[in-house]
Amino acid sequence: MKLFDVYPLFDVEPVKGEGNYVIDAKGNKYLDFYGGHAVISVGHGHPHYVKRIEEQLHKIGFYSNSVGISLQRELADKLGMMSGYEEWNLFLCNSGAEANENALKLASYANGRSKLIAFEGAFHGRTSLAVLATDNPRIKFPVNEGAEIIRCRLNDIEMVKKELLTEEVCAVIIESIQGVGGIKMPSDQFLKEVRDICTRTGTMLIIDEVQSGFGRSGKFFAHQHSGVKPDLISIAKGMGNGFPVGGVLVSPEIKAEYGLLGTTFGGNHLACAASLAVLEILEKDDLIGRASELGEELKEQLKDLPGVIEVRGRGLMIGIEMSKPVAELRKKLLYDHHIFTGSSSDKNVIRLLPPLTIGPDEIAMILKAFKEELS
Ligand code: PLP
Repeated sequence: MKLFDVYPLFDVEPVKGEGNYVIDAKGNKYLDFYGGHAVISVGHGHPHYVKRIEEQLHKIGFYSNSVGISLQRELADKLGMMSGYEEWNLFLCNSGAEANENALKLASYANGRSKLIAFEGAFHGRTSLAVLATDNPRIKFPVNEGAEIIRCRLNDIEMVKKELLTEEVCAVIIESIQGVGGIKMPSDQFLKEVRDICTRTGTMLIIDEVQSGFGRSGKFFAHQHSGVKPDLISIAKGMGNGFPVGGVLVSPEIKAEYGLLGTTFGGNHLACAASLAVLEILEKDDLIGRASELGEELKEQLKDLPGVIEVRGRGLMIGIEMSKPVAELRKKLLYDHHIFTGSSSDKNVIRLLPPLTIGPDEIAMILKAFKEELS
């Protein structure tokens, strides 16, 4: 059998990960400034992460957490404490797409409505919400009968307000930093106004922190830079440092009932151990504070390079908009300088999403490579 050919793959076979680096089958070492689609938060093979997972594997392994009292409680406590959402509730699942699906379901359960506002350039996963990310007119499904997605322009508050004032909209879903869309951000003022109108109109605000959460932006969640509090927060990616785990943080206003949500594998014991290890490392090594400092330094140095139009983002979630398409530059960075970077749906934007464990040496390496290629 062959693989269903949906990804343009680089001709590199990663076989090992060590800290901020990936080693391929030929023994070449690559600096990882992409983290396998933004999942590597605490570095490859961190000793504490490996130990936590290994120990759990020897206990009850993957066993489902929806049977009895489990590690999920420990994870919820630690996550609540570190994120500042102690009073909220946690539902665990397996991926970012699933987290958003569950958030949407909860929003609709909360107010009984079926319209959704999402934004141009948004990406929320490959299930119902995938309709946002495809321009292929042949793809119509799956969007449930009766449901309607209204696409608004980012930062166009009048457009959002007009829809919300009908009081027919179930939820607004927004990334606090658009990842796949090319590191574009709602302004703090826009987020605040959206929060305010959502509150006045009984609309749920879902913030998608799948890519920007778990410290990547220099705060635990990127929306915390603007001071708003949503009703639901979706998480995944960096949460497990590569282990498939996702979740929804649910405001205490939304009450749980048996059977409302469910999953077999979501938040299994091993997934919880992986995520607890991530939180413990973030805390112990102050990686969130470091992400903020190093990110600012890197952005500052990138912005004056030739051909750079704009450098966007927060912490270690950085987008570099160039004056021309970046495909060739990314290939050179990979094959000539052995540095992984990310693309985005904007062909002129490179995404940088390194492990939060990088340091000055790694910053110097990528800057040197950029300088050589762009000068
Ligand atoms: N939400 C955002 C903001 C994402 O960036 C992604 C993935 O790139 C998803 C949701 C979907 O996550 P997953 O691929 O784990 O389903």
